[in-house]
Amino acid sequence: MERIGFIGLGNMGGPMSANQAKAQRRVRAFDLSADAVARAVAGGAEAAASVAEAVADADAVITMLPAGPQVRQVLTEQVIPGARPGTLVVDCSTIDVETARAMSDLCQAAGLRYADAPVSGGMVGAEAATLTFMVGCRDDAAFADVEEVVRPMGRAAIHAGGPGAGSAAKICNNMLLGISMLGACEAFALAEKLGLDWQRFFDIASKSSGQCWSVTTNCPVPGPVPTSPANHGYEPGFAVAMILKDLKLAQASAASAGASTPMGAQAEGLYALFDRLGYGDRDFSAVIQLIRGDLAQLERAS
Ligand code: NAD
Repeated sequence: MERIGFIGLGNMGGPMSANQAKAQRRVRAFDLSADAVARAVAGGAEAAASVAEAVADADAVITMLPAGPQVRQVLTEQVIPGARPGTLVVDCSTIDVETARAMSDLCQAAGLRYADAPVSGGMVGAEAATLTFMVGCRDDAAFADVEEVVRPMGRAAIHAGGPGAGSAAKICNNMLLGISMLGACEAFALAEKLGLDWQRFFDIASKSSGQCWSVTTNCPVPGPVPTSPANHGYEPGFAVAMILKDLKLAQASAASAGASTPMGAQAEGLYALFDRLGYGDRDFSAVIQLIRGDLAQLERAS
């Protein structure tokens, strides 16, 4: 796995490609954005003029693209026709399960290997190489190769199951995250109305059965967790537009699988409203100001 083709060099792919280069791998990188390519080159990658050039003699191809349609297009039109037989394609984008399974089948038919390996950890994790990879692939041998490919970019890779299982795990995890953040926001808003001090409520909830990442790490009110976005004008962090994308994926998956996800549907509706009100670029914990009825807290100083 010495030669990596890297497609998609945005907020996540850029630093992930730099971590591949730091591991002394040859990284040929491509993005539609010339600025993104320039940043990847500054991080140690070689610029490729096209996807075909990036993947031509790669041992593994990593894609980190916005969503399913881009992954489908790049793989079917460029990666599959251009890569050598046996190349391992690792898609780290957050996409729907159906597309991941279809890409696995197309790669298999073309003599390539494929894994869906979406990540948790955000931009901080992409830079610090502390991402967690949720991997869907055909068997343990393929997983061992995926682990080797992703090792320079993260601290854990977990074999979720067959093709599409990584995407399924990511969608379920982020639906839980969206719901738990709304629960944390409602609890802090009610605590305030009941005259409870936020810090004292945090001290209790963080050591009681209400504790979760949305309380202890990304606490939606300023004070208790100094590094949480609430202390920094709700700059992301994890943006409203990103959780909304993931909640939409969860609802589409639930509909196609016949699963009942009423809380996920509520969460999607609330975040869609918050997005339409113009707060798509804020951290998703900022939704507490919608719940508290105090959107003025989110006005930026001009
Ligand atoms: P981004 O928009 O910053 O980067 C995507 C990059 O893909 C852009 O640079 C864009 O120019 C490029 N691109 C789009 N179409 C292309 C094409 N046809 N050929 C080549 N390049 C193309 O997005 P991001 O924040 O880096 O997220 C990437 C993926 O990771 C998404 O699926 C997202 O849901 C997921 N994700 C993001 C985060 C996060 O915190 N940003 C966390 C976990 C997962």
